[in-house]
Amino acid sequence: MSELQDLLKSVRDIKRILGRLQNRLRNPRELGGIRDTLNQIPGILDTLAPFSGTAIDSLSCQLNTLPHLAELLNKGLREELPNNLSDGGYIAKGYDDALDGMLSLTTDNKLWLSNLESEERERTGIKNLKIKFNNAFGYFIEVSKSNLSLVPDDYIRKQTMVNGERYVTESLKQKEKEIFHAEENSKRREEELFAGLVAAVLEESGPLTETASALAELDVFCGWAEIARLWNYCKPELDESDSIEIAQGRHPVVEQMLKQSASGLANSQAFVPNDSQLSASESQIHLITGPNMAGKSTFIRQVALITLLAQIGCWTPATSARIGLVDRIFSRVGASDDLARGNSTFMVEMNETANILNNATRHSLIILDEIGRGTSTYDGLSIAWSVVEHLHREPDAGPKTLFATHYQELTQLESHLGRLENFSVAVKEWNDDIVFVRTVIKGAADRSYGIQVARLAGLPQVVIDRAKEILQKLESDDATVAVSSPIPKAKPRKKIRVEQNDDQLNLFG
Ligand code: ADP
Repeated sequence: MSELQDLLKSVRDIKRILGRLQNRLRNPRELGGIRDTLNQIPGILDTLAPFSGTAIDSLSCQLNTLPHLAELLNKGLREELPNNLSDGGYIAKGYDDALDGMLSLTTDNKLWLSNLESEERERTGIKNLKIKFNNAFGYFIEVSKSNLSLVPDDYIRKQTMVNGERYVTESLKQKEKEIFHAEENSKRREEELFAGLVAAVLEESGPLTETASALAELDVFCGWAEIARLWNYCKPELDESDSIEIAQGRHPVVEQMLKQSASGLANSQAFVPNDSQLSASESQIHLITGPNMAGKSTFIRQVALITLLAQIGCWTPATSARIGLVDRIFSRVGASDDLARGNSTFMVEMNETANILNNATRHSLIILDEIGRGTSTYDGLSIAWSVVEHLHREPDAGPKTLFATHYQELTQLESHLGRLENFSVAVKEWNDDIVFVRTVIKGAADRSYGIQVARLAGLPQVVIDRAKEILQKLESDDATVAVSSPIPKAKPRKKIRVEQNDDQLNLFG
């Protein structure tokens, strides 16, 4: 793998280069990228040879060596290449006789110029005479003031300077013309040759694109394999059963984030792995309760991500994973709104839920995070309740579903719906505090600990105390007494709205 990764380092983005060449964006260095890539293919094929008979074989077959094109580009292009066509100097020596002739003319002319300097110094006796070049005047002879008396008659004055004069001669003018002409010719010739090389590349764009795709896949496989070793991922088993069994699963992103923060914090927690066993026909819906911050969202997302990783052919963050193929993964996570397009948070949530209910099949995996939070408690609870019932409507099987909720009431459904099981993310109580354990256990959470979490978040003690008082009264049977003041008396519980938290992780975070 590391040999292959070494070889892949010199591989360039061939598809992008081809696109640019097709759009006439012609850059010698990019053309060199195709050459450099082709030069790696024989080595890559050698490295893959021991894997014949495996799935990697089919990728080897898509790696085209294109020896003629490789040879052409190796012969045609210099080792170091400029970014701009107009810079010239990218076609290799020995590739084209005409170009070589023009280039040697330029070299000869430059040699002639440097000889001219010493010849003229000797002829005129001016020791500091110089041949110079600038863009405005081209080539000229520069003589300092003190030597002006030595200037011969055939010098033609071009420009007077503070410290001296600048001259040309007929033969210098002639040479200058030749030099410009030769340079122009050689640039034009280089561009012609470049166009020929581009045409040869474009002619092979089919096999080159195929090669690029195979190289990209190899690169992805190497990346996955590297991560699997580094982060201790397992090889999942895939089958066509209706179940998902994950042992000691982890969330691939949160796990790494915790590792990073662990290096800075002495007592920060390592990721706590959790098992999951779902099946469309037996344990179809897992209803997960537990306080805010316990780890519900992380858990349901990790199951979806492990399934996704397994199905794209990647290793998975678990000690073992057996994934019955799913046809789609549906997720309703995070409370984001779409106000600009006229959709409230609740509307977005309901749209997404509608999409899930209308499209999920018994082969799908669904994760639902806090359905119904965007409206009043009773509305939200009623919707969540009927969504669960709907997902369970078929007598024998339904879409595998992880349903994270703060509605404690839903846990009663376990005794009515045969394929629904209650789970919770464990917490420990210590005095009046809670400690997050992050372990998913069978059974419903005993309560929601919202006030304790609010205290952890830093709500003022007076607010916490008052909240406790209200909660106690609300939970007592006598609701009217409970909310005597300042909460309005009529139908008090219906006024209580579910707290919204827009700061949710997205599916991958
Ligand atoms: P909930 O959905 O129950 O409110 P989250 O899933 O958003 O909770 O988790 C809150 C935080 O707890 C995460 O951002 C993460 O830092 C931490 N966390 C969650 N699950 C784990 C776990 N299994 N191991 C360690 N830390 C976790």
